Amino acid sequence: MVKTVEAPPEMSEMIERIETQYEEFFKNELKFIPEEGRIQLLDDNVMFIGLRTLALSLKDELDTVLGEAGRDLLIYRLGQSFGRSEAERLLPKLGLSTPVERIAAGPIWAAYSGFVRVRLLPGSNPVEGDEFFLVYDHPNNFEAQLWKKDGRSAQNNICYFNGGYSSGWCSVVAGVDLEAEEIMCEAAGDKECRFIMFPRTRRDEYMERIDEFKNI
Ligand SMILES: [Zn+2]
Repeated sequence: MVKTVEAPPEMSEMIERIETQYEEFFKNELKFIPEEGRIQLLDDNVMFIGLRTLALSLKDELDTVLGEAGRDLLIYRLGQSFGRSEAERLLPKLGLSTPVERIAAGPIWAAYSGFVRVRLLPGSNPVEGDEFFLVYDHPNNFEAQLWKKDGRSAQNNICYFNGGYSSGWCSVVAGVDLEAEEIMCEAAGDKECRFIMFPRTRRDEYMERIDEFKNI
C-alpha cells in the first residue's frame, strides 16, 4: 500500500516501488558515526535540522535583516537549492528511467526525509520540457503547521521552502527552469496549501488561471 504521495491509482505500483528503494537505503546505507561527528547516508554526509529552525527562527532572523519580501525570496531559493541538490545526489542512485518516475521520486523522498507529504492533483502533466505542469497540495506542511502552532497568522502564503524544494527537484528532471507558486495557504486561513508549478517562461499564462486551479 502506498505510504507517501497521494496520486492517481495508476501511479500506485510505481510509488510503492520507489518507497521500497528508499526503505532499503535507510536500512542498509544509513550510518551514525558520532566519534567522527558524522551521519552518512549513501556515502554522503547529512545532518538533522530541527524544522522549527527553518519555519520560525531563520525566518524571524531574515525578516529583521531583509524584510518580508527578502525573507520569502531567500527561503524560496534556499528550498530550491535543497531540492535541486537532493535530486542531483539521489537520482543517479535510483536508476529510474522515465520522467514521471524521476519526478515522483522527489515528493516520496520529501516524505522519507521528514518534511512533507504531497497530494498530486488532476491536471498535472509531469513531463520533460515546456509542457511540464503540476498542481498539488502540501497538507499539514511544516511551515504552515508550525506557524499556526506558534499562534501566528498570515495575510499571504508563507510556505516558500516547500515551493522552492519541489521546483528545485523537478527542474533537474524536466531540464527547464520551473517555478512553484503557492496559490492557497493554510497559514492564511485557506483549506489547503496548494501550489502550481510551471516553466518560468510560461508564468503569465498559468497565473491567469489561478481561480481554476484553486477550485480543483
Ligand atoms: Zn502554505
